[in-house]
Amino acid sequence: MKEKKPVGPHKLLKICRRLFFSGALTMLTAAYLIGHFYTWRGNDVSVFLWIAAGVGILIMAGSLLTAFSKLRCPYCGASLMAGGRMPSSLPHFCPDCGKTLDDCD
Ligand SMILES: [Zn+2]
Repeated sequence: MKEKKPVGPHKLLKICRRLFFSGALTMLTAAYLIGHFYTWRGNDVSVFLWIAAGVGILIMAGSLLTAFSKLRCPYCGASLMAGGRMPSSLPHFCPDCGKTLDDCD
């Protein structure tokens, strides 16, 4: 599965960030509701909420994985998330070849 024209890193980062936050929101909402149900009804928490929380976590993990594996320098292919960098912003220059990343998409 190789695309000929890959999505630029800025666009990809935006997509990943949006995905990550919607996953986080899903997970937090579910966790909040689970907490409420737990207080009200003891152990009788709807399975749906656990699934929603799980899906939220999966979306978060998936967006992080995508960011870590796909965010690469368009010139030399070096990973832009190397060194434990959180996918919140891109460096202005490629850490490997030093080319500017500001105008690559
Ligand atoms: Zn590079």
